[in-house]
Amino acid sequence: MKLKIITLVKEQAMDKSWISLDDRTRPEYEKGVQEFLEFAYSSIEPHEKIRCPCVRCNNVYFHNRDHVEADLFEHGFIKHYVSWVLHGEEFVDSSTEDSDSYDEDSELEDEHKINNMHESYNLIWIWACWVYSYTNKQPTT
Ligand SMILES: [Zn+2]
Repeated sequence: MKLKIITLVKEQAMDKSWISLDDRTRPEYEKGVQEFLEFAYSSIEPHEKIRCPCVRCNNVYFHNRDHVEADLFEHGFIKHYVSWVLHGEEFVDSSTEDSDSYDEDSELEDEHKINNMHESYNLIWIWACWVYSYTNKQPTT
C-alpha cells in the first residue's frame, strides 16, 4: 500500500533526472529542457520573459524563451533547482503520506528526509534570490 502511494507520487511528478546530466548533448537533456520550457510557459504568454535557470543567470536574470533555451545548452541547468517554484510549480505537500507509515519503512523515511532536505535547500536559495534582487536592480526589459 505504502509503496503504491510512493509510486503514484513519482509518476505524477515530472522526471527531472536530466538536470543532473553533465553531457548536455544527450537527447534526455534536450527533452528535459523542452519539458521545462513547456512547463514554464504553460501559464504565461509566449512573448513573456522568465527567470533563466542556467548556472550563469541563476534565476536572477530574465530572458525570453529562445535565450533561456540557448543558455541551458550552453551553460547548463542549476542542478539543485529541482522544485520549479519560480516557474509556477507548487511545493508537494508530503504531510499526508506521513500519517501511518512512519515507523515501518525506513526506505520511506529516507525518501522523506531527502525530499525535506531539497525543499529547505530550495527555500533558502529562493530567499537568497530575493535578497539578491533587492540589492541589485536588474534590467527586466
Ligand atoms: Zn541564463
